[in-house]
Amino acid sequence: MQHRIDGERLWARLLAMAQIGPIPGDGSCRLTLSDDDEAGRALLISWCAARGFALRRDAIGNLFFRRQGRDADALPVLVGSHLDTQPTGGRFDGVLGVLAGLEVLETLADLDLETERPVDLCVWTNEEGSRFQPAMMGSGVACGILPFEQALAACDAGGVRVADELVRHGYEREPVPDIGLADCYVELHIEQGPILENSGKTIGVVTGGQGIRWYEISLHGEETHAGPVPMALRKDPVPMLARLIDLVHDIGGRDPQARCTIGQVRALPGSINVVPGRIEMTVDLRHPDEIELEAMHHALMRGCSDLSRNYPAIRLDVAPRWHSPVVRFDANLANLVRSCAERLGFAAHDMVSGAGHDAFHLARRMPTVMIFVPCRDGISHNPREYASPQAVAAGADVLLSVVLDRAMSRG
Ligand SMILES: [Zn+2]
Repeated sequence: MQHRIDGERLWARLLAMAQIGPIPGDGSCRLTLSDDDEAGRALLISWCAARGFALRRDAIGNLFFRRQGRDADALPVLVGSHLDTQPTGGRFDGVLGVLAGLEVLETLADLDLETERPVDLCVWTNEEGSRFQPAMMGSGVACGILPFEQALAACDAGGVRVADELVRHGYEREPVPDIGLADCYVELHIEQGPILENSGKTIGVVTGGQGIRWYEISLHGEETHAGPVPMALRKDPVPMLARLIDLVHDIGGRDPQARCTIGQVRALPGSINVVPGRIEMTVDLRHPDEIELEAMHHALMRGCSDLSRNYPAIRLDVAPRWHSPVVRFDANLANLVRSCAERLGFAAHDMVSGAGHDAFHLARRMPTVMIFVPCRDGISHNPREYASPQAVAAGADVLLSVVLDRAMSRG
């Protein structure tokens, strides 16, 4: 027989959590380590305390709630996600993975099921990276990928440090966070894209994550008055910018799995009657295959040097800023998600995550997988973000099945 979570309880809790830091249009704003973020955590802590799930907090503010198994020394099964949001966040991004994780722990308790392994619900600090950078901070520190000191020193726009906020909210300063050993990590999340909705499938079996490369590019010409200087005598970087935009979009358009985004373009000094002396722009390249991503990188570099030859009066500087390699989740766990979805009667679809998630960090430490559910119009980071009660419950049911399978096994 297939166990099921309580969909109504889960839905009610999603709506209750959204009431903390509410913003117009049904959204939420709980910026990392703000009072609202802490209030959201307090609500979760009260729900977990009512069921007797023991809480541990680490020095970067990650929370771990445990439902003990028969063998207290067995490696735990980890589930979780994040409660912080973007400034114009929705009700489901991150919150779903946390509250569905709680739902799994509670369902096991309701059924009085004794698992072999402990099951831990994890809440990662600062997944969003909106108030403090980098994103995926708490999981990065706990997995030994982001230095603890660097995370503590990160400042928000007002000069407040992560370390200050952790002290203000009463987090201990030691020991240095480390996730330790675990059997596996499973994260449920809304897709944040349109693929599941368009395919009519309920469950996304996430086999990995796209690799990402970021660049800052600047074009240096010469500021001059828009009137008196003839076109031929200007050092105007704008025509070169036009070719550069074409170049980037050609790179992104030559393969359906490739993505390119020019998210920022700034002309300086930014005056209507001045030829800009400098243009700054960013490029974000993504691909689910590391070799293809590498090829996109080289195409960008080659294209930039060709442009430099064609526009000798303009200096082009291109600086690679960040590289997050392609992530491959555990194939056995992906198979397990697929078979659990099928057993429960949900149509499943293999896919790759286009967004970054805490699970990317966990995947470097232990077998990891993600489960996606569809969200309306693929919209997230927006108060209009919406996943149906049916989709939410389906995702949590699959999460429960996967956790049960792993937690019942003796390692
Ligand atoms: Zn998220």
